[in-house]
Amino acid sequence: ATATMAPFSTDLVDLFISVKTTRHYHHSRLPAIIATWFQFARDQTWFFTDRDDPYFQNQTNGHMINTKCSSSHNRRALCCKMSVEFDRFLASGRKWFCHFDDDNYVNVPRLLKLLDNYNPREDWYLGRPSIPAPLEIVRQGPEPSKRPKVKFWFATGGAGFCISRALALKMIPVAGGGKFITVGDRIRLPDDVTMGYIIEHLLKKQLTVVEQFHSHLEPMKFLNRDTFHEQVSFSYSKGSRDEWNVVKIDGFDEKDDPKRFRSIHCHLFPHVANCPHR
Ligand code: UDP
Ligand code: MN
Repeated sequence: ATATMAPFSTDLVDLFISVKTTRHYHHSRLPAIIATWFQFARDQTWFFTDRDDPYFQNQTNGHMINTKCSSSHNRRALCCKMSVEFDRFLASGRKWFCHFDDDNYVNVPRLLKLLDNYNPREDWYLGRPSIPAPLEIVRQGPEPSKRPKVKFWFATGGAGFCISRALALKMIPVAGGGKFITVGDRIRLPDDVTMGYIIEHLLKKQLTVVEQFHSHLEPMKFLNRDTFHEQVSFSYSKGSRDEWNVVKIDGFDEKDDPKRFRSIHCHLFPHVANCPHR
């Protein structure tokens, strides 16, 4: 049997999954996660929020973490949360850090299968960019002629990304113990961009593009249902006038499952409870 085994058999216990959320979204976003993919990774998944919430603390068997970061949608607050996520991962001792937003569906078995291809003792930054070219920024310098241009890729936080333990350990001097926030302040860019800046620019380690991570910056309806089981993450967003950007999939009624998470879950895992008859 060993001959057919993957080289770095990744187990659930190797994984630390962080989900960024905020007090304003607990009731609108967390139930769809808790009813679906969270059930496959209950001991691995932690919700990083900005308020104590006894109801969801109970629903997640104690997996809500109050970061004490501000609850506003500004760059500083988001970098603050990412900083706490990163430090909690380091403290967990796990092999892989995977970050997602609270509007992501995570295909947990497929995520494990993906990570099997990479050695966590090597440096890995896995994710998917949302822009077609590397981001180019101009660093602040004393005079305009001495302002260096910096180019780097970053994985979109809203699609999810993973970082190996080896790489995370190398990030400690610049980003550990709350220093992630300092870097964010210096370049004044969002949390996922800051992550790319630290890894690609400061540490000179390249992003490995994994097309199977998806954010709602892509039109979800173009995802082919024959490939759903290969995808690592899905997302949704509500546009103007009740138009949702969602995965096109049969299953539950749109009014019962507007985000399509329960339908995706039943499509991927037909044996789970409460799936529609087919
Ligand atoms: N978020 C947050 N604080 C806020 C607003 C949003 O932590 O004040 C989180 C939210 O829970 C989600 C992510 O940031 O995980 C992205 O938020 P959203 O989906 O609302 O916006 P997007 O950037 O995707 O358009
Ligand atoms: Mn979003």
